[in-house]
Amino acid sequence: MDYYGSQISALIEELSKLPGIGSKSAQRLAFHIINLPQEQVEKLSATIIEARKKVRYCSCCCTLTDDELCPVCKNPSRNHKQIMVVENSRDLAAYEKIGRYEGVYHVLHGAISPSRGIGPADIRLKELMTRLAGDVDELIIATNSSLEGEATAMYISKLVKPTGIRLTRIASGVPVGGDLEYIDEVTLLRALEGRVLL
Ligand code: ZN
Repeated sequence: MDYYGSQISALIEELSKLPGIGSKSAQRLAFHIINLPQEQVEKLSATIIEARKKVRYCSCCCTLTDDELCPVCKNPSRNHKQIMVVENSRDLAAYEKIGRYEGVYHVLHGAISPSRGIGPADIRLKELMTRLAGDVDELIIATNSSLEGEATAMYISKLVKPTGIRLTRIASGVPVGGDLEYIDEVTLLRALEGRVLL
């Protein structure tokens, strides 16, 4: 039954495809958008289109970037044989902010979570394994210390152990469930420096 007319229904349908947006939120957003000044709606849609066009995944580490390779992967003075696995691009940014890590990253874009239906195939693990087939000295697992982060760390360690690559996990000084993004730089540096061999 089409209560709203096809244009509004189409907008509600598109919005409800976004993560975390149920049908009620989609309706609320749709009516909010309809009531915005034309100019603001144009700016919103243009920003979405531009971001989608320009932002892409780094072809090496999978972080979000504007180019084929992100600035870290492009940098020849980084240690490309040391790879730190993080859950998302925000975690990468948190480590870059402390400015003491000289290796490169691998961004998973999520963590394994059976309760939310996120399995190993839903995060960038295949890309990680491809990279590990090359010349790698150390893999640092820096997923969050949440249940999902720990499950992901365990899964990766089982996958990587047989390769003989040195495998470490950041120290557990990072508070449980703590989003790396919100942890202060000293704690983050301590977690990195105190990483333990798996
Ligand atoms: Zn990269």
